[in-house]
Amino acid sequence: MKKQFITYGLVGAMTIGLIATTTGVSASDDGSIPSHGPAKNVIFLIPDGFSQSYASSYRFYKEDALPIWEEKEMFAAMVKTGSNNAAITDSAAAGTALATGHKTDNGVIGLGPDGESLPTILDIAKENGKRTGLVATSTITHATPAAFAAKVESRGSYTEIAKQMMENENVDLLFGGGRTEFLPESEGGIRDDDRNLVTYAEESGYTYLETRRQLMQWEGEGDKVLGLFAEEALEPSLNQRTDEPSLAEMTNSAIDFLSKDEEGFFLMVEGSQIDWAGHDNDPLYAMTDTEAFEEAVKIAVDYADTHEDTLVVMVGDHDTGGMAVHASEEAHPTMLNQVHALGKDMAEAVTHDYANLEDVLKEKTAFEWTEEEMDDLKEAESLKLAINGAISEKTGFGWSSYDHTGIDVPLFAYGAGAASFNGTMDNTDIPKKMLEALGLSGL
Ligand SMILES: [Zn+2]
Repeated sequence: MKKQFITYGLVGAMTIGLIATTTGVSASDDGSIPSHGPAKNVIFLIPDGFSQSYASSYRFYKEDALPIWEEKEMFAAMVKTGSNNAAITDSAAAGTALATGHKTDNGVIGLGPDGESLPTILDIAKENGKRTGLVATSTITHATPAAFAAKVESRGSYTEIAKQMMENENVDLLFGGGRTEFLPESEGGIRDDDRNLVTYAEESGYTYLETRRQLMQWEGEGDKVLGLFAEEALEPSLNQRTDEPSLAEMTNSAIDFLSKDEEGFFLMVEGSQIDWAGHDNDPLYAMTDTEAFEEAVKIAVDYADTHEDTLVVMVGDHDTGGMAVHASEEAHPTMLNQVHALGKDMAEAVTHDYANLEDVLKEKTAFEWTEEEMDDLKEAESLKLAINGAISEKTGFGWSSYDHTGIDVPLFAYGAGAASFNGTMDNTDIPKKMLEALGLSGL
């Protein structure tokens, strides 16, 4: 494997040299970084549920500055997301495709449709001497990160996934939420096997972190690290707690830690809750969590700018909500600056008799609410969804579903090896292309 890497390296260097002599401009002379391989590091960023509609709406929402993926001209390809048994995938099958290069059935993590165990890009990176890490804003055992480090028939087997993740020697870093899944019932957790996986981690040589302060003070010592920053999922970025790190802070610390070795690293970073915003049809949740995700992408791109052997790939695992872009002068995503709470939090604050509905709406939004609009909200089956629907209308968002949809998703790539992502790709191609960029194979 090592020899193969060196061979690719020579070919890559020769190719770049050739381009430089024929054009007279070397890649670094014009300030851009080489988009051909080989790469030593891969940073794989997954905004769960993010499709082209999110990308367009987010551009309108930001108004004054381009999203980093547009500023850096990272758009590379469109990606088909269907699973083995459905046109519309869930995050388990999609995560498995992105981690292993194989289609599987919805709900399944890390196994093929016949139950066969599939190696992941993370496994192959580790076998080739690279450090590896997984970062998420959901519980770390949620479908997308789980697909890189666990094998289960059913994505809901969270405590089993936690156990497998801790016993998986190929994973060096885990940052996310989900502390209760690592602790026994007797210690405030939900494990019924009486195991304390936090103690187990510490005994196995992991550094254990639980708060933002601990993360900030940690200097990256040790070979392994487990950071569980919330009992369940982290808060949505709009509600970020002072003791929880942001996705960008976790990403920054992860890169610092993983880049200590000469051999390079593989890091997966998930913006987990963009998908949850889509399920809620909540435009403020979708845009603010995309904003937090973009901050993590900026960290990755900054690293690639100073480490030219780094490939950054960003792609959603599927669309959520079938968002449509209805932006107009009267109803525009920038008007989300008049909304100060997520729909779910507003709905929760309203009493059962709706006595304080008007107060909540007036306190949390700067919009006018007519009697008719408030009557509609009171009659709705779900107040949360009705509030989100009304705010969507006032801010230029449409939705076609409370679930995932089958629309293709855009892929953005940057840095070493980015040029090999183009055209219409299948989601199973992506980990293979990333490995190829590293001069490796095996999926
Ligand atoms: Zn979802």
